[in-house]
Amino acid sequence: MTALAEASVDLDAIAHNTAVLARAAGGAHLMAVVKANGFGHGATRVARTALTHGATWLGVTTLDEALSLRADGVTAPILMWLWSPTHAVDRALTAGVDVSVGSTTALTALTQAAHRTGLRAFVHLKADTGLSRGGAPPDRWRHLCAAAAQAQAAGLVTVRGVWSHLADAEHPADPGLRRQLRAFDEARAGARVAGLGAPLTHLANSAAALQLPETHFDLVRAGIALYGVEPVPGRHFGLRPAMTVRATIVLTKRVPAGTPVSYGAEHVTDRETTLALVPMGFADGVPRLGGGHGRVGVHGVGCPVVGRVAMDQIVVDVGDLPVREGDSAVLFGPGTHGEPTVVHWAGWARTNAHEILTGIGARVRRAYPVAAGGSSSVGQDDLHPQAVPAAGAG
Ligand SMILES: *Cc1c(COP(=O)(O)O)cnc(C)c1O
Repeated sequence: MTALAEASVDLDAIAHNTAVLARAAGGAHLMAVVKANGFGHGATRVARTALTHGATWLGVTTLDEALSLRADGVTAPILMWLWSPTHAVDRALTAGVDVSVGSTTALTALTQAAHRTGLRAFVHLKADTGLSRGGAPPDRWRHLCAAAAQAQAAGLVTVRGVWSHLADAEHPADPGLRRQLRAFDEARAGARVAGLGAPLTHLANSAAALQLPETHFDLVRAGIALYGVEPVPGRHFGLRPAMTVRATIVLTKRVPAGTPVSYGAEHVTDRETTLALVPMGFADGVPRLGGGHGRVGVHGVGCPVVGRVAMDQIVVDVGDLPVREGDSAVLFGPGTHGEPTVVHWAGWARTNAHEILTGIGARVRRAYPVAAGGSSSVGQDDLHPQAVPAAGAG
């Protein structure tokens, strides 16, 4: 390891998790959500692995994310869902990227792009069924569908999907979920009435894909579960965490009781002990809230992070372990060798695993170790892009 800190990504785990999700999805297509650089794991590597293990679509947030996959040679269908109608998105059309549309303003921007490029825009109409983020609310939905039908008849767009996003799929008993399902039924009916045919219908995220078959429709969109984080509290679907973050211990020192540690001396050693300096800080994604709460794995033992987390480093109390410079400190991993998991860190930092994973900084080198079976070495030539699923498939 030449970088001081490394996030090693187990692509076999991604492959396994993809297969678990594809099985759970039943007849529905699986969209691998690789936004935010594949939740920090590397979008293209994750995309290629997922596409060879059961995913047929890719989901991203921004056009730049979609274009970067295309630049890497990924030809599978991609949906992007966050863009501004004040920006030209012509490149979505030329790169063959499907675009979410939740307002007539956005639809107009796309029809203009279609005029400019001479290409049809492939759109997924988004209904706001209760999350109050993107998507058309019920009182705008029919108008949006009618405008989309008109643009489709004019040859400017093809409505390939009708979709929405759930607020709380982790808690199936939540009445909000039933309300969203009813609102989504109405949105689908509205699209039919507008003559939009039978486009791909999709609603489910990871939690819904794994435990709510009534949300599957034609396609499910999975993010966090792909990366091996169990999305439903208290339930286990056999997912395998894919990322291990470790750093090289750069210094150890034996200190007496009463030694203050890090800024503000918020920690003072209560006994003679060994301190290890780990070169990862909040700029690398170690949450400041983890200072005094978090642990890192050293020699298979969870050792406390003592004192404040600094920008570039943390201090770990390794007690009497025979730790030497050059040894590894594991911030989190699958949890199989005494190290904490990303879910532990999310708890210590009072956040979710998504924030910890996506917060791992650019200075932390991504590595893709090849597993014994060799199946992790997914190269560009191994990519067999799937054809675009027919509208209404499943
Ligand atoms: C991030 C995202 C997902 C994936 O959600 P998970 O809970 O991580 O599976 C699915 N759909 C949309 C629209 C998203 O933004």
